[in-house]
Amino acid sequence: MAGAKPSIAIRGAGIVGLWQALALARAGHAVTIYERSAAPFADACSPYAGAMLAPRCEEESAEAIIRELGLRSIGLWRDTYPGTKVKGSLVVAPPRDQTLLDRFARMTRGSERLDAEALKALEPDLGERFPSALYYPGEAHLAPDDALDFLLRAAKDAGARFIFGASERPDGADLIIDCRGLAARDDLPTLRGVRGERIVVRARDVVLARPVRLLHPRFPLYAVPWGNGLFMIGATVVESEETGPVSVRSALELLSAAYALDPAFGEAEIVKLGAGARPAFPDNRPRIIPRKGYIYVNGLYRHGFLLAPVLAELVATFIATGDTHSEVFVADPAQR
Ligand SMILES: Cc1cc2nc3c(=O)[nH]c(=O)nc-3n(C[C@H](O)[C@H](O)[C@H](O)COP(=O)(O)OP(=O)(O)OC[C@H]3O[C@@H](n4cnc5c(N)ncnc54)[C@H](O)[C@@H]3O)c2cc1C
Repeated sequence: MAGAKPSIAIRGAGIVGLWQALALARAGHAVTIYERSAAPFADACSPYAGAMLAPRCEEESAEAIIRELGLRSIGLWRDTYPGTKVKGSLVVAPPRDQTLLDRFARMTRGSERLDAEALKALEPDLGERFPSALYYPGEAHLAPDDALDFLLRAAKDAGARFIFGASERPDGADLIIDCRGLAARDDLPTLRGVRGERIVVRARDVVLARPVRLLHPRFPLYAVPWGNGLFMIGATVVESEETGPVSVRSALELLSAAYALDPAFGEAEIVKLGAGARPAFPDNRPRIIPRKGYIYVNGLYRHGFLLAPVLAELVATFIATGDTHSEVFVADPAQR
């Protein structure tokens, strides 16, 4: 595809479609993005995200490729979005469950073990309650609503055209990039949804500068500080595509774990409860699937914010040079 820049239609304006639009518009393509919902993000999984950029912590349950791609993505976020906070992340466990910390450290790379004093220096409230912690410097986080709005504006400023309320396959572009998330299951039958429930609270008395994961044999949880007193408490991982209301059991588990992390969450106001369905392939790895004049970018599972920038870069390189990344590009979605 070297030579004149092909015009591009993107289907879906979630985090994946927005990063594709921004990268390709900035690379000089004429880009139009078609979104099914009438209003931005009304029907997307993306607003439910944390949105932690945690390539090292995620390696506890994800393959090494997620870490490798994710570390590249953090730089792309930082160069693009001023709201990217690179303050590292922390992992703690109740005093009786310290073996969980040892296991987490073994399953991941790049952690520093902190004692209570060192933890207190980073997060004064946590140092009072937890005897030790794992610290992953270089990890990042952001507030998803603001980041999504920012990317939409940045893509427009770069020349991308947005059409909302448009669900048909577009005509006329040289190349279509399909970023429809779970809705692309009509073409990609191995795609499935993995329900994630989360609660957003406003807790004026909780002071955390960075995401914290609380390990627990039954209810692992994380809290992400979004700024202005808002925290996202998440998230369940349920093999279900339901995006209906949060169950009482999940709400109890999430809120109890938040209270265990910091009793000051007991005074928090609940701002939002909700669930999204993460688009995932059977091995929970992302895929770029080129077909004639059509490219699917999908299966970002728990890593949509983490991986969207680097997948946009990979697609832009593929369009410009034909180069592919052997672990991400596949001809057939059932293939790795
Ligand atoms: C509770 C929870 C917590 C999470 N936390 C994190 C986190 O901390 N870090 C992280 O990196 N990731 C996280 N994720 C994962 C992340 O949210 C997803 O991987 C990501 O949102 C997937 O983005 P997407 O753009 O593929 O899909 P979506 O956001 O669903 O976007 C797809 C878009 O396509 C549109 N569409 C559908 N059909 C059509 C059509 N026919 N024509 C045009 N448009 C169409 C939809 O309306 C939608 O807007 C979390 C997810 C959940 C649920």
